[in-house]
Amino acid sequence: MEKFGHYISIIDDELIAPCGSTSDTLRNRLVPKKLEIFVWRTIKNRIQVRCELDKRGIDLHSVRCPLCDDDLETVEHSIIFCKFSLDLWSRVYQWWGLGNFSNLSVNEALRGNNGAVMSNLGKKIWQATEWVCAYYLWKNRNNKVFRGKSWPVSVMLNEIQVKAFEWISHSLGVKKLDWLTWLNNPNTFLSL
Ligand SMILES: [Zn+2]
Repeated sequence: MEKFGHYISIIDDELIAPCGSTSDTLRNRLVPKKLEIFVWRTIKNRIQVRCELDKRGIDLHSVRCPLCDDDLETVEHSIIFCKFSLDLWSRVYQWWGLGNFSNLSVNEALRGNNGAVMSNLGKKIWQATEWVCAYYLWKNRNNKVFRGKSWPVSVMLNEIQVKAFEWISHSLGVKKLDWLTWLNNPNTFLSL
């Protein structure tokens, strides 16, 4: 087994991510597989933020956050604590009527824990929304790094509302989610 483990560890993360190494809380059938893989990599500190690249000996001009330049770019900073990320998370929480977003770790945020009472399906819908939020934060960060452009937070919120609805309603079947309820009162779905 030890030998087997060694071989697994040298295979690229992207290949092994979905294969038996994800716990149930990191599986969500409401979103595409690529998003599950992104979340798995994020929780394992395996997205290519500047501090992680630096640890691997890649020579970078800066290890600071490309969006705010206020702090080092770690995974926690990029996905949660960057001021733009906190602003977006707050708006997502407001949209869902879930109160304030308060300093959750990446792990806590992406496992769908926020203290609210939810049905199993409701929890998966909320978690899928959080994952789409993290995905757009990372997309926005890459836009800034590779194309020199970033989106206003309000635009990102709209993108998340549209994309999460598209993915979730496609998986559930169109009758389960109503677009206007989704936009105006999504926490109705927490008890589905
Ligand atoms: Zn930042």
